[in-house]
Amino acid sequence: MERKRITTLGRRCLIVFAAALLFVGCKEEEKQQREEVKEVAVLEPKDIYEFGFNLNDYIVKRDTIRSGDSFGVIMERNRLGYPKIFQIAEKARDSFDIRKLQIGKPYTLLCSKDTLQEPKCFIYQPNKEEYVVVNFQDSIHAYKSRKPIKYVEKEVSGVITSNISEALDDKGISFILAYKMSDIYAWTIDFSRLQKGDKFKVIYTDKYIDDSIYAGIADIKAAYFEHRNEPFYAFEFETDKEKGLVDYFNEEAKNLRRAFLKAPVEYKRISSRYNLRRRIALYGNRIRPHKGTDFAADIGTPIRATANGTVIKSAYTRGNGNYVKIKHNSTYSTQYLHMKKQNVKAGQYVKQGDVIGWVGMTGNTSGPHVCYRFWKNGKQVDPFKQKLPEAEPISDSLKAKYLDYIKPIKVQLDIIESDVEPLIEPASENLITQAY
Ligand SMILES: [Zn+2]
Repeated sequence: MERKRITTLGRRCLIVFAAALLFVGCKEEEKQQREEVKEVAVLEPKDIYEFGFNLNDYIVKRDTIRSGDSFGVIMERNRLGYPKIFQIAEKARDSFDIRKLQIGKPYTLLCSKDTLQEPKCFIYQPNKEEYVVVNFQDSIHAYKSRKPIKYVEKEVSGVITSNISEALDDKGISFILAYKMSDIYAWTIDFSRLQKGDKFKVIYTDKYIDDSIYAGIADIKAAYFEHRNEPFYAFEFETDKEKGLVDYFNEEAKNLRRAFLKAPVEYKRISSRYNLRRRIALYGNRIRPHKGTDFAADIGTPIRATANGTVIKSAYTRGNGNYVKIKHNSTYSTQYLHMKKQNVKAGQYVKQGDVIGWVGMTGNTSGPHVCYRFWKNGKQVDPFKQKLPEAEPISDSLKAKYLDYIKPIKVQLDIIESDVEPLIEPASENLITQAY
């Protein structure tokens, strides 16, 4: 750990040094530029466009909505008369509810470029992408719009020294990419047991608002993972345009996802695993088998169907509390106990990921969790020990199209240079736990 810190520090010093060099360089250039500029009589200000306005035509005032702020209060603060404010509010009402200003959200006022600095336009940004314009410089009109969004394709490669988040962090890339990767490979690679020397390459897209504001990683287009010297490819492919269904498949068009989700909730921890020899103090330390897996999660966390199927029970018993049982096919059924409330009825068809209820602590339980039970051929088994069926394969009609589509992407992945061997020692020798 200590060595890593020193290395990082060393690297930082280098960056500072390089920046200083660059700065000196810039100074020189600036001087030269200034001399050149002298000959030009008047420099036209460069047009700066935002929200569809040339900002140079106005005095621009930016602020955020504060407690007690309303459209009227802000306008009054900027010396707009009440009759006018009322008139604007009336006219804008149909396209924008000016009462719905959220504290902390940014707004921009475009004001006249004279001594009066009279407000001409109010722009409110409920989120990074959308904005609302109330324009009252001539006639009054209000409308909603969106900032232009740009997607930029990027590549990254790395070698695992301890875990994938750290490998990406060393390159200044968000851990979100690690999350997305672990999601794609959930059924193929156990990201908590990566090996030192495992390699990865990713082609992904970054999202930018207004050309320059970074808005996070949008999507992983393709990935390659070398785990224990075995290659694992993943390509994103749309299988149903109408429904917008997108899945990841390998180089042979095999779906990387399984027919079952690994867990029915986003859980904090597994509080109890399937264990036929569990001893419980509560019952005099006798063996009481636990045939479910307990996922601890906050009350109200959505519980999801782990696979497509038909709800065969949505009921209450003293032990189970509110529970749901789903029959997936003639082989598999699952059950979800201790719900706060069910969200489905018996007979209903549910798809993988559908919310079937919410975490609670009804029935015989000491804390909020889902007891997840898994049946195979009528017997309760440990889902973590099952080789579960694959999700629906790509249709034959799409397979040729898919293989064609991935050909150039696979080449692109293959030629991404793998990182050089890492200089940093891993935190421990071979098996390293997840950091996130
Ligand atoms: Zn349980």
